[in-house]
Amino acid sequence: MPKMKALARLFGVSRHFPTSRCFSTSQTVKQGLLKRLKDGGSVVVAEGYLWELERRGFLQFGNFLPEVVLEKPEAVEMLHEEFALAGSDVIEAFTVSVPAVITLAAHFPDRTTDEVPIPEACKRLEDQGAAVVGLNCSRGPDIMMPLIREVKNACKGPIAALPVPYRTTGKQKTFFSVKDPKSGKLVYPDNLDCVRCSRTDIRLFAEDAKEAGIQYIGLCCGNSASLTREVAEVYGKNPPASKYSTSTEQSFIFGDSAQDYGEEMRKLAKFMKGE
Ligand SMILES: [Zn+2]
Repeated sequence: MPKMKALARLFGVSRHFPTSRCFSTSQTVKQGLLKRLKDGGSVVVAEGYLWELERRGFLQFGNFLPEVVLEKPEAVEMLHEEFALAGSDVIEAFTVSVPAVITLAAHFPDRTTDEVPIPEACKRLEDQGAAVVGLNCSRGPDIMMPLIREVKNACKGPIAALPVPYRTTGKQKTFFSVKDPKSGKLVYPDNLDCVRCSRTDIRLFAEDAKEAGIQYIGLCCGNSASLTREVAEVYGKNPPASKYSTSTEQSFIFGDSAQDYGEEMRKLAKFMKGE
C-alpha cells in the first residue's frame, strides 16, 4: 500500500506504520513494535473502524460486511488518516488474529467460554509466544480495568487494553447488555450513543491504564479520532490533531476574552449557561 506509506511519511506518525493489515509480520514492523515495548515505551492503537464507518453511513449493523473497502476505499483511507493524525501508532482495519498481539474479549464472566479464567488464558497465550496479550472490545473502560490489572499480575507483559468507549456497569458489563438510562431498553447496536463515554471518561481511563503500566493502549468499537487523541495525549504524545484540542480560553463566550466583548456578551453567556 504505497499510499499508506506516503501518509505515514507525510504525517510522521510512526516508523512502525504497517504496510498491510494490522501488524505486518515483516521483520521491520515486528522488531519496531517489540523493541519499543521492550524499552518500556507505549503504543497507541485506534481500533473501531467497523463502527465508525457504520456511523458515517458506509456499513450495515447486522452483517458487518466491510464492503466499503471496495465500494468507497477513499472513506477508509480518510479514517486511517484521521486516526493517524489523532496519535494512533498503528493503522489497522478489518483484521483477524495477528501473530504478535493477541487480545481477548471478556464478556460477563471473567473467563473464556471454555472455562479458563481470563488472566490464566492470557498467561497461556504469552507462554505460547504472544508478544502482547490483553483485552479488547465488549467492556467499557471502568469494567475492563479491574480485570486488566489481574491480567497484568498474571503475565510478564506487555499488556494491551482496548475497551469500547461506552459506560458499561457492574450489572451491564458489556455493550451488548447496556441499557438506555432513559428508556430502560437495550441500546446495542444502533443506540449506543446515549451511553457513550465522554472525552473526560477516556482521559481518566488512559491515566488509570498508564499508571497501571499498560503499554499497548487504545479503544475498540465506538472509537473516534477525538477519543484516540485523548489517549495519545495522556501517553505523552503530541499528535498533529492536538493542534485542535479543546481550548475554551479562546472562546468569545466562555474564555478570558469574553470580558472584552462588553455587557451584551456577558448577558448572552448568562443566558446560555442558565445563570
Ligand atoms: Zn470492538
